[in-house]
Amino acid sequence: MSSQHSAHGASSAARGLAAEDQWPDPAAGALDRVVDAERRRAAMEAEQARLMDQVVELRRLEASRAAGGRAAGNIAAGFAVDELAAALAWTRRRVEARLASVRFVHHHLPQVWSGWQAGLVDAYRVDVVVGAARLLVDPEHVRQLDDAVTAIMGECTGGQLRRWCARLLARVEPGEAERRHTIAFTDRMAATAQGEDGMGSLWLTTSAVDLAALDQRLTALARGLGADDPRTVDQRRSDLATDLLLGRAGAGTLRAGSPEAGRRRPVDDRTTGIRLVVTIPWTSLLGADDAPGDLVGGTPLPASVVRALADAPGTVFHRLLTDARGQVLDVSQLGRFPDPPLRLATQIRDGTCVFPTCSTPAERCDCDHTVAHPDGPTCWCNLACLCRRHHRLKQHRGVSLEQLSPGLLRWTLPSGRTYLVCSDPVAEPAVPSAGEAGLCALLALAA
Ligand SMILES: [Zn+2]
Repeated sequence: MSSQHSAHGASSAARGLAAEDQWPDPAAGALDRVVDAERRRAAMEAEQARLMDQVVELRRLEASRAAGGRAAGNIAAGFAVDELAAALAWTRRRVEARLASVRFVHHHLPQVWSGWQAGLVDAYRVDVVVGAARLLVDPEHVRQLDDAVTAIMGECTGGQLRRWCARLLARVEPGEAERRHTIAFTDRMAATAQGEDGMGSLWLTTSAVDLAALDQRLTALARGLGADDPRTVDQRRSDLATDLLLGRAGAGTLRAGSPEAGRRRPVDDRTTGIRLVVTIPWTSLLGADDAPGDLVGGTPLPASVVRALADAPGTVFHRLLTDARGQVLDVSQLGRFPDPPLRLATQIRDGTCVFPTCSTPAERCDCDHTVAHPDGPTCWCNLACLCRRHHRLKQHRGVSLEQLSPGLLRWTLPSGRTYLVCSDPVAEPAVPSAGEAGLCALLALAA
């Protein structure tokens, strides 16, 4: 029995535990395998990143030889990134970030690169180190970072590593911190993202000083609403920030202890001058059932939220006729440029750019003729939303795009791989039919 004791059993004995605790610990064995799997995962990430770079370089070489120039090679290398994104179902930005990391670490951080290949550190933490190393202006400091970080990176979480790197940067190049703040301030931004359950988030990037002041002000305003306000502090802060940004400050919802304060509606009828496109079955709008609506871009909204929006003054409805699968029936017109209703209908159908991994909102896309006009008609069946980048990609050598039926598109990329993209139904199928309703999902999976 003792011969089966592992190192874990021996250390238990050393701590003077009872005899029954000295048995081999199956959880410890499983934990060892977890650690081993993590190490292999990290090493495979390094291998995958190296191969991704190889794909790009092979595309670059192939194009610069065929077309005889560096410019052609660079264009092909750029589109190889889209090819990788589609093959991996990653965003383009994620592919670019991984490529940038592997190139940097390979050339400038040899010890970190060895550690990554050995699985001592994963891509997430390599990205943190690369992000810090890129900020150093003196190559000698990059070498110092490579030496020092290798000793600790395997034992740090990403957050710990980020703070460790920030301290090292401040120590070795203090003058740069001032300059970076000035530059970073030009990158301030406010971004929104639609979430789940009819909710969404706002990210605001501004100076640390303004943000601290903003945080204090929100808290002070939230507290100022009084102890009678039934909302939590988080709810009050969210309501206050929303009202202030939408110019609704000073209205009823901000009054301390107002009886309606805790019954705030998710849609406020004082939201004006903003265009939101929402689709909802007619029956649901009339209250005959509670089928959900959709904020264009694919965010489902509860029927009650859409009805509240419909009640708001200034809301305009367009009627879209859909078939049994919920797809909008054909809409066509003469001429090259789609008129606003046809363009709007195409945007509503597609929601985003129709490249497999792109999420550029349809209203920021070109309304592209899949088959160029005048060979292809200006119709629902031949229009699709493409962002500028993927509009250009469509014209690249080895790329083709077909619209098999309205909203169902097939991309063929230079590798010969094909991807089917299917717009979500604009409305729930009128007559639920397993065969028909399942068709879109099945086709999407076949990609
Ligand atoms: Zn796109």
